[in-house]
Amino acid sequence: MSILFSPAQIGKLELRNHLVMTPMHLGYSLNGEVNDQLIEFYRARARGGVGLIIIGGCGIDRIGNAFGMIQLDDERYIPGLRQLVDAVHAGGAKIVPQLYQAGRYAHPALTGKPSVAPSPIASKLTGQTPEELTEEKIQEIIASFVKAAIIAQKAEFDGVEIIASAGYLISQFLSPVTNQRKDRYGGDLEARMTFGLEVVEAVRKAVGPDYPMIVRVAGNDFVPGSNTNSESRAFCQALEKAGVNALNVTGGWHETQVPQLTMNVPPGTYTYLAYGIKQAVSIPVIACNRINSPELAESILEEGLADFVGMARPLLADPDLPNKGKSGQSDRIRPCIGCNQGCLDNIFRLKPVSCLVNAEAGREFEHGSIGQSVDRQQILVVGAGCAGMEFARVASLRGHKVTIWEESGEAGGQLALAAAPPERQDFLYFRNYLVNACRELGVTIHYNIKATPETILSAVQNGEFERVVIATGARPITPSIKITEGVKVLQAWDVLLGREKTGRNVVIVGGGAVGVDTALLLAKAGTLNSDTLRFLMEQQAETDQELHQLLTRGTKKITVLEMAKGIGRDIGASTRWSMLADLKRHKVNCLDKHTVLEIHPDGVLVECSNDNTQKVIPADTVVLAIGSRSENELYNALQDKLEKISIIGDAAKPRKVLDAIHEAYSEGIK
Ligand code: SF4
Repeated sequence: MSILFSPAQIGKLELRNHLVMTPMHLGYSLNGEVNDQLIEFYRARARGGVGLIIIGGCGIDRIGNAFGMIQLDDERYIPGLRQLVDAVHAGGAKIVPQLYQAGRYAHPALTGKPSVAPSPIASKLTGQTPEELTEEKIQEIIASFVKAAIIAQKAEFDGVEIIASAGYLISQFLSPVTNQRKDRYGGDLEARMTFGLEVVEAVRKAVGPDYPMIVRVAGNDFVPGSNTNSESRAFCQALEKAGVNALNVTGGWHETQVPQLTMNVPPGTYTYLAYGIKQAVSIPVIACNRINSPELAESILEEGLADFVGMARPLLADPDLPNKGKSGQSDRIRPCIGCNQGCLDNIFRLKPVSCLVNAEAGREFEHGSIGQSVDRQQILVVGAGCAGMEFARVASLRGHKVTIWEESGEAGGQLALAAAPPERQDFLYFRNYLVNACRELGVTIHYNIKATPETILSAVQNGEFERVVIATGARPITPSIKITEGVKVLQAWDVLLGREKTGRNVVIVGGGAVGVDTALLLAKAGTLNSDTLRFLMEQQAETDQELHQLLTRGTKKITVLEMAKGIGRDIGASTRWSMLADLKRHKVNCLDKHTVLEIHPDGVLVECSNDNTQKVIPADTVVLAIGSRSENELYNALQDKLEKISIIGDAAKPRKVLDAIHEAYSEGIK
């Protein structure tokens, strides 16, 4: 890694490397103050080797802040802020806060006050119409930015970042969609830039010429009628003239319909936005969004697409990513898989951020590092799914000797299932991480071994094991629907894992996550893959319209039936909208509030609960995706016979991967 881990500079700020932890909304402070949870979270990231940490967002006032953020609007916060700064400095990193004002994205139900914006245009995030800012109120907000910057300086932060992206207040002024003012703050692009530039100029004046200042900009709003990279370049040039030292280039607004952070976004996709800005300015540019490995970061810097690389979620997943990358141990990095289940989905539910792959994230203040157990044991884990392997990993770190018996020929369990649909292979990266981590820690995994109550009892009685953990997972449910001969009826798990093939006319029973995954897998069969698309585009072999058709027109007709209201209700908010859009693009027929009455030779007889009408949906294959039930027979047979036996993961109760991992971690550190 020749560039990524070499020393770097932003203005007069010297950094140990070119890796920036971009701001993340964590939801860890409920009273605006820095606390131990926040300090230990960032201390771990600083120790992990990142060069610069941007703390985000930090409220500059009480009308534009959000749930769970620290505040920079009062000097009484300075002692706590200093503790945070000291902790990060002790780890060798530099630290700046992001000055945050959400404008119309602020939720009045949380702030207790009406939100404000350049124009009274309802927010797509909150559904609320903000109050139009008067010129006097605009000056008050500029003064709040200034006050926050001075507090940051007094707290000995190494600089400040101002957010002018993501659809927050400054970007609302920049956009013709949300700024329809007739005064000097509205009109053409130059006028719309006025507010952002006044904020930057006022902050610069207050903090002095040398205090590092970064602005986070949208490389493209990805909102119809709003700014693109072209307008953003003009704004960035003006920011450079106003004394900004670096530009942190992200993607679009929160309300965009263009996915930016979901697993289906190829890593590094949005680097071109940073490169567009870099070509227009001479100050450093930070590229971010779905850059999740040191190798990708290095290639971006080598190609000259950006001057710094920003990562947030990858450092939530593994705080030691920089040190591991620097020491040539990238294969030991616990990968962020873009699932959003612990981070963004939690924030949408007003819960503190956690991480699917890293149960320690946000709990550093509780556990510190995993310590050695005083009572080292020989442990048998039955099942090498994600819960079994995570338990084995953590228990091994505690000093226990762990053996896993796995019935099938490979490890991973539900992770392999989750990774089956197109563009979901990141789940396998996590599976691979767990397998490697177990191997390195000396966990022995025996494959193709069927555990029975007798074999387990015998092994315990022979002294091979002192403790048994059952992690046997779950199996799919078969419903009690009348099924007549003639239609192929399959389980979704078998289809996802490629063990069974469907016909051309498929009805999927069950519209939860597994049903949606199966529908997308089948709907995409026969469509263009990315290599073919690129080839055809380069050769100009087809029209754009035909290429679009070929991308979305598969070979199968798919219907999803769901008894309740809504499809994909168990998918997290950050991902669900994009999967539903994908179903629509691929013309999957989604019918909620439809109960299956019978599967017979012509297809599926259903009843709609809206009007109680019945109809037959033709099908040559019916795929069942109606849930799973625990594989707990071993536990039930042994719980009274063994003193030290426990059950974890789906074997205890079917659950999300995140819950299975976190529970396994907690069991492992006991
Ligand atoms: Fe990445 Fe998922 Fe963890 Fe979020 S919860 S940091 S997306 S692995």
